[in-house]
Amino acid sequence: MVLLKHLRYDQKLMLKNNFMTSVCSMFWFRNDLRLLDNPGLVEASKLGEVFPIYILDESIPSFFKQGKASKIYLHYSLEQLNESLSGKLNIYRGDAQKIIFELFSAHTRIKNIFWNLCYDPWQFHTDQIIEKKLGKLQISCKIFNGSYLWNPQDIKKEDGGHYKVFSAYQKKVYTIEPRKPLSLSKHIQFIKDENNRTTLQDLDLLSLKNWNNKIESYWTFGEKSAQKKLYTFLQCNLAGYKKGRDYPGNQQTSKLSASLHFGEISPHQIWEAVHKIRQEMLCEEDIRHFLSEIIWREFSCYLMFHFPELPWKNFKAQFDNFPWTYHNEYFEAWKSGNTGHPIVDAGMRELLQTGYMHNRVRMIVASFLVKNLMIHWSYGQDWFWERLVDADLANNSASWQWVAGCGADAAPYFRIFNPTLQGETFDPHGHYTKQFLPILNQLPSQYLFKPWKASAHLLKQAGIVLGENYPFPIVDLKFSRERALSAYTAC
Ligand SMILES: Cc1cc2nc3c(=O)[nH]c(=O)nc-3n(C[C@H](O)[C@H](O)[C@H](O)COP(=O)(O)OP(=O)(O)OC[C@H]3O[C@@H](n4cnc5c(N)ncnc54)[C@H](O)[C@@H]3O)c2cc1C
Repeated sequence: MVLLKHLRYDQKLMLKNNFMTSVCSMFWFRNDLRLLDNPGLVEASKLGEVFPIYILDESIPSFFKQGKASKIYLHYSLEQLNESLSGKLNIYRGDAQKIIFELFSAHTRIKNIFWNLCYDPWQFHTDQIIEKKLGKLQISCKIFNGSYLWNPQDIKKEDGGHYKVFSAYQKKVYTIEPRKPLSLSKHIQFIKDENNRTTLQDLDLLSLKNWNNKIESYWTFGEKSAQKKLYTFLQCNLAGYKKGRDYPGNQQTSKLSASLHFGEISPHQIWEAVHKIRQEMLCEEDIRHFLSEIIWREFSCYLMFHFPELPWKNFKAQFDNFPWTYHNEYFEAWKSGNTGHPIVDAGMRELLQTGYMHNRVRMIVASFLVKNLMIHWSYGQDWFWERLVDADLANNSASWQWVAGCGADAAPYFRIFNPTLQGETFDPHGHYTKQFLPILNQLPSQYLFKPWKASAHLLKQAGIVLGENYPFPIVDLKFSRERALSAYTAC
């Protein structure tokens, strides 16, 4: 007989794991497509073997279903996750509730289920139903928070109410230290469902065939790549972030939004990595600003948690009477990047080509839609939902409402961006605009953001024929600004 005290630590662990093979727990991956710092997975692994599942839930109401760009990103992210699980990710498609209960009936060895919370209202509600039903069947169900630094339920004002102003929320959360990232045992055993025939391809996530090749060339996917993105950002772009983040041509931001949305990286890992280098980096203002963006993400989720109608209802009821207009031709011109206002068109074409748009430009195009065109923010929100790889219900709706002026702690409605001035200020050399609108490459920079003001001679020299290879502006900026302001005053 082998004496336990003579075994090395890893041999003891293996023995312990073998001893525990009778306990098997299901882990349900959702927006937490990573192995490290995954609280639900860590806890499941402590009990023995893990049966990892991903379900493409077809019972989701269409409003909450992922958009086309997100699906493409999800496909490649799942591919990476499956690789890090040595091909043992069990993939299903259908009604998530039904599938979970069928799996429990088919695999009697599985005794528990673990998952991390999703705060999208529909998912949150469904989770509670599943938890209740599991409880009735005496199946243990453990739920964790893996996606946010602070649980929206836990953050309250002194009077017990909820924060509606970002600065006050930020001040509060800074008093609560987030937990440290968690590690995962290397000896964890993942179980493959040999009877399951569904593969990643069967999820049909690559519906826009021509487009996914492009997305593939702009993005790298999965947990390892997210860590790489983070470290490259910290080393190369954190210093100077506060100012540089506003210039779309600078590429100074982290580009971590899709990774955060799908949980390829956790905010805890980001928080910890930033704090580790804080002492050696002499850029405290940049650090604070970057962390404040991470906190904006928390705040958006917090708002949606306490105001679940955020994706479709004005946060400020005053806007319910706003006289929105809808003009299909203008909306189509906006979507395709053909408004005749170069910074708006560059942004919309960046979105179409890459599934992403720089934050400053998101604000400009959104302001243009809701203020200059006076089209309801929900149209813009839906288009972003369809086309952003980082489409996120909380961030998208909170941001659209913020720009439209009807959100919590929103930009005042009367602050209407002038796209010409915004372009001149934030893309002074035109690098960004010309990248996505190469037709304007030869236009002298003083006309880049207002080609309609260039002389016929200059336009000819630059190879531009307004109305043919680049549109005339669809609205006059002065007129549309005044129209928006008087509509606001009247509502
Ligand atoms: C109209 C509009 C719609 C938007 N829709 C989305 C969306 O669907 N999904 C999304 O993730 N972001 C959205 N944003 C916020 C922001 O534009 C993106 O998060 C950011 O551009 C992503 O780039 P990054 O990762 O390089 O950001 P960084 O500047 O590197 O910021 C780091 C992280 O902080 C978070 N963050 C940054 N800015 C914001 C913000 N304003 N609100 C909430 N979180 C933020 C993101 O998770 C981001 O990855 C939207 C903004 C606007 C104006």
